[in-house]
Amino acid sequence: MMRLVFCLLLAVQLQAAWKAGAAKVSITPGESIWMAGFASRTKPSEGVRQEIWSKALALEDAAGTRSLLVTLDLVSIRPHIADAVAAHVKEKHGIPRERLLLNVSHTHSAPIVGDFTSYESRMGEYLEKQRPVIARYTAALPDKINESIDKAIAALAPASLHYEQGFAGFAVNRRRVTNRTWPGPVDHDVPVLAIGSNGRIRAIVFGYACHNTVLSDNRINGDYAGYAQEALERQYPESIALFVQGAGADANALPRNTVEAAERYGATLAQAVDLVLKGKMRSVSDGLTAVMEKPEIRFRPLASREELQKRLATTTGYEREHAQRMLGKLDRGEKVTDRYPYPIQAWRFGREFTLLALGGELVVDYALRFKQKYGWQTTWIAGYSNDVFGYIPSKRVWREGGYEGGGAFLFSSFPGPLDEETEEVIATSVDGIMTKVQR
Ligand SMILES: [Zn+2]
Repeated sequence: MMRLVFCLLLAVQLQAAWKAGAAKVSITPGESIWMAGFASRTKPSEGVRQEIWSKALALEDAAGTRSLLVTLDLVSIRPHIADAVAAHVKEKHGIPRERLLLNVSHTHSAPIVGDFTSYESRMGEYLEKQRPVIARYTAALPDKINESIDKAIAALAPASLHYEQGFAGFAVNRRRVTNRTWPGPVDHDVPVLAIGSNGRIRAIVFGYACHNTVLSDNRINGDYAGYAQEALERQYPESIALFVQGAGADANALPRNTVEAAERYGATLAQAVDLVLKGKMRSVSDGLTAVMEKPEIRFRPLASREELQKRLATTTGYEREHAQRMLGKLDRGEKVTDRYPYPIQAWRFGREFTLLALGGELVVDYALRFKQKYGWQTTWIAGYSNDVFGYIPSKRVWREGGYEGGGAFLFSSFPGPLDEETEEVIATSVDGIMTKVQR
C-alpha cells in the first residue's frame, strides 16, 4: 500500500494531467423479477443476496477530452439501452459514442432486461404477471445508468492513473466439461487500472475472463465478480471497484454452485487485484485516443420455410422453439437478417496500454490472438461490451461446434449460428482500429 500511495502522491504532484471521477447507482430490482442467463429457471427472483450496480468512471485528459467507462452487474446490454445512454451522454455531456464504453459482468443472477422471448416457454403461470415487471425494470434502467454517469462527471478531480496486470487461476475452459478431448485455453490475466487522488485510491478497474455463473439459484447477486467488487470496496473504502468482463465466453469458475464458492472466487480475484495495487504499477501518461467501428458479421442464412416446418414437426425443446420463432417472424412479414453490425472499440491510454472492447460473448481465442499480436503487457481485452447479442466463436470453436460454436443460437432470434469467417472479419477490423488508435 505504502509504495502505491507514494507513487500516486508523486504522480499527482508532478503531473495533474488526468482528471477522474467515479460513482455507482444501485440497479437492484425492487420487486420479484425473472432472472436472465439460465433458460432453465422456472420461477422469478426470491429476494436479494447482494446489491447489483451501475458503476461509472469518468476520465478527462489534459486536453479536456472526456471518456466514460460504465460497468453493469447484468447478463447483457442491447442497443435499446446502450443507445438511450449514448444519447444522454452526447446531449448532456457532449461525449461521442466512441468515448462511451459499456461492459456487463454477465452475472446470471440479475434481472432480464428487454426482450425475453426465449424464456417465455418456461414462465408458465408467471408469464403475464412478469411482463409488466420486466417492462418496468427495463424502462427505469437507462435513467439509473445515466445517474451514475452524471455523478461520475460531477466528481471529476485531478487524478493519477496506474496500470499493471496480475493473475488469478480459477477460470476453467468449460467446453472440456462436455468433451475432454478439446483443448482448454484460458486467459488468467487480471488487468488493473488504479485511479488515485490525493494519495488515496478512488477507483479500481479490473478485469477477468470467466462466466459469472457460479450461482444459479433465485436470489439477485453479482456472482463472483460482485463479491470481488464488494471485497475491494471493503478493503479500499474510499474507492469504487468496477469489474470488466473479458473474453470469458468459454470459461466457467469450477467447481461451482455454492455461495461459498462464489465468495471464495470473489476473494481470490480481489486478492489478485490487491497484489497488483501493492506492487509496482506503470504510471499512465496523458491522453486517451478512442476509436469505435461496427464491421458487419454474418449469420448462416435462415432455413427455408419448408425446412423450418419440418423442424417444427420432427424436433423438440429449444430447437423446435427456434423454428417456431422463425416461422412466426416469417408469418408476420418480419425481415430475418443474416448480417449484424459488430461493435469493436479501442481506447489507447497514453503510451502504456490499449483497452480493446468487443461485443458479444467472446471466446478466449480472441484474447490470446490479440494479446499475442498487439502485446501481452500492453493489451487489455474486454468482451461483453456495448452489445451482447450472442456467442462469438473463433474459427477453432466454430469447427469444433458445441454450444459456443453455434448451438447457442437456438436461444436467440437470429436465423442461425455465425458463419465460419467471423473471426477473420473481426481480426481484420481490429487490425485497422489498432493502427488508428496507436498512431
Ligand atoms: Zn454466457
